Formats: sequence, C-alpha cells, structure tokens
Amino acid sequence: MGVHSLADLGAEGDPKWELKVETTRLEPQEGDWALAGDLLWDGVSDEPFASHCVVIREGRILAVCPVQDATEAGLVVEHHSGCLMPGLIDAHVHIEFSEHFPLHNQPFLTTSELMESMAERALRMVRCGITTARDLGGRNFAALSLRDEIRQKRRFGPRLLCAGQPLTTPKGHCHQWGGEAGSLEEAFAVVERQVLHGADWIKVMATGGMRTPGTNVEEAAFSSDFLSEVVQKASASKRPVAAHAHGAAGVIAAVQAGCRTVEHCTWIAKAGQWGCVDDTTIKEMARQGIAVAPTAHANWRRKPMGERNYERLCVALQQLRSTGVQLLASSDAGAIPGLSHDALAGGIQVLASMARMKPVDALRAATSASAECLGVGSECGRLAEGLSADLLLVAGDPTRDLTALERPLLVVAAGRRIEPLVPPPPFPNYETVRRKRHEVARH
Ligand SMILES: [Zn+2]
Repeated sequence: MGVHSLADLGAEGDPKWELKVETTRLEPQEGDWALAGDLLWDGVSDEPFASHCVVIREGRILAVCPVQDATEAGLVVEHHSGCLMPGLIDAHVHIEFSEHFPLHNQPFLTTSELMESMAERALRMVRCGITTARDLGGRNFAALSLRDEIRQKRRFGPRLLCAGQPLTTPKGHCHQWGGEAGSLEEAFAVVERQVLHGADWIKVMATGGMRTPGTNVEEAAFSSDFLSEVVQKASASKRPVAAHAHGAAGVIAAVQAGCRTVEHCTWIAKAGQWGCVDDTTIKEMARQGIAVAPTAHANWRRKPMGERNYERLCVALQQLRSTGVQLLASSDAGAIPGLSHDALAGGIQVLASMARMKPVDALRAATSASAECLGVGSECGRLAEGLSADLLLVAGDPTRDLTALERPLLVVAAGRRIEPLVPPPPFPNYETVRRKRHEVARH
C-alpha cells in the first residue's frame, strides 16, 4: 500500500537525487555487508521502497539496490522488520552544555570531565539515530576536539559540524564564550580564530538572546553592512555563516548580509510578540536559498512561549514554508534546560505540527534537505551510492507516522553499528525533569 518499486519511480522525483538504478553488477568483497528493512526510505522520495537493501563497504554505501540483486551477487542480506532510512540530522545543538543546568550557570568541569560528559551526550544522540549534528557554539573549542575524536573513530557519536565561539557584540548574547567584538577589526580576528581552530561554520549573534540577561532580542546587534563584511571574511575561508536572530531587524540584517542559515527566527517584536514577520525578507530568504533552523524542540509541546505566541510562530513557520524557505530539524539542545540532546525525534514531530508539514517533509528537514543546507549533502542525509553509511532502522513507516522515530531498532554511523536507544518521550514530565536536575545539582 503506497509502496512502489524502483521501476515506479517516476518524473516526480528530484532528478538530482533520483534513487540510482544499479546497472553495473555488484561485485562483493570480503567485509561487505547488506541491510534491509521491510521498507527503505532513501531520504528524498515521497514514498518508501519495498524489497531494497543498502550494501555497505568500509563505512560507505556501496549500493542501494533490490534485495534480489544483492543476494544474486552472493551477499547475505540481513533483514529486519521496519523501515531503513538515513540517520537524522540535528541542525542546531550545543554539545558542550548539560541540559541539567542553565546555559550560563554550568558546573565547572576539568577538560577531561568535560570531554567525558560531551562524549556521553554524543553517544546517546547517535544511539537515538542522530548521525550528524551542527554544533553552534561553546566556550573553548571543546566540541571541535570531540568532533575530531569521533571522526578518528575513537568515540561513537554523530558527525559534528562545529562553529566554535560565536561572534557577538561586547556583552552581547553568549559573550561569556569568548567571541566578543566591538569593531570590524575585532570581528575579523574572531572569525580568523575560529578558522584557525578548524571551525566548520561561523556563528554570529545577530540579536540578543533570551538566556543572556541584558541583551535585546528585538534589535539587530550588527548592521547588515557589518555582517556582510563578516560573511565575506568567512567565505574567503570557505566557511558559511549561521545567524542567531530573534527580532525582525536581526533577521533582515542577516538575510541582507547573505548568512546561510537563520537560527530561531522567532520574529519577536517589541512587547514580546512573536511571529511579527517581514514578508519581503521571507521572499528574499527563499530567493537566496537561506534556510531557517527554528529550533522547534520537543519541550515546545508545553508551549513555554504562551499559547498566543505559539500560534503566531506556527503561522510564521507556515509562511516561510509556503514561500519556499527550507526549515531544518533543530533542537538547540544544551541551551534549553530540561531538553535532552537525544530528543530530536520529539522535536521533529513538534516542527511538523507547527509548520503543518507532511511526515515525509519533516523527515527531509531532518535528513536530505538538512544535509544539503548544511553543505554536507554529498556526504550524508540520503541513502545513495558513495555516501557515508549513516543508517537508522525504525519500527513502522516514518513517512506515514513520525512516532516511528521513537522506535529505533538499529543504528549505523559511518558504517559502524551501535546499540539503539529509545529517545526520551516527546511529552516529558516536567516534574521528573526538575527532580532529575535537583539530583544532579546535589552531586
Ligand atoms: Zn543555540
């Protein structure tokens, strides 16, 4: 029902991403292995495929083909019930910070303690099927060290794309992390320092933030000319820029400057009203292909911004989408007390419900479309020949029912198999979270 075979893949598929029909015969080598679910969703197509498998060689996808082709080539295909799909991508996390403490009141940890706590979060994330995450900032480049250890296969965790220290105004949002700049010269120095440390992205705080007292979320922190210079400076080192922006003035400056993604994009105006969108800017975002990571996370089920602002933000997200702006599954885990880093499955459901996305569109926002916007579309986000073997097998059909993401049966990250972990429930009991935080605080 609804499942089509490879032969049915018609003209509706994005030609750039069409599931490749294997024309050359598979020639298995020792060490190759193949996985199949009842269904296979490639990260792109509208519908999953039946009787298809993924063949893995040395951590990469050798082929996505009918099970029969693999068996005829002499491979033993490991079959599971459920649906095989690409691993999930969280476009906005802060792996350095614990959800058990406020963002700017984290306990002091030694370097090795910090590394162990980050590694524990990374392990939980990947066990829940999150195989890629963009880390949008921290204090001491700790996330970059973890990124490298994961890359070197010394730890299990998602592929990390790291921004290092966000560029911010003096005493601006997250100035405690070391990226303050009061002039263009200082801003260039901040960018250079991130590049020197091997940051993959440059993050700028284009407005204040709710978790840094004394900052203003409605007003632009930098002019668009200033941000343009920063974007050019970053792009000279081939680094895209992610802009944290709440108020419309900050979003407008970030868009005019050509930042690649806008984070949060809550359109907060004076008097604290959310969703005060600027239509022209939204059109410009669509024209430039600027994506939005709305950080619609699992704990927004409780509507912490209030019923009215929640509804206004829903309308804003729907307008972004209908205008052609790509939304990205993104949690802001680490910056949100009580939100676990492995709770993306719940966040994807919140995003789908707020932006009125079909399950398959929400899945694309957490796989292929996200990878494309984050600049790693040729490495992950799809099940396709040559890409990293980042796979998630879930019970059920996630293209029809997103709760399937809460039932991981098998996870493969860069070709390595990891014991799956059931993500936290999408309706976390707030009292339980608070009690847990108290317990941790007592240690
Ligand atoms: Zn953040």
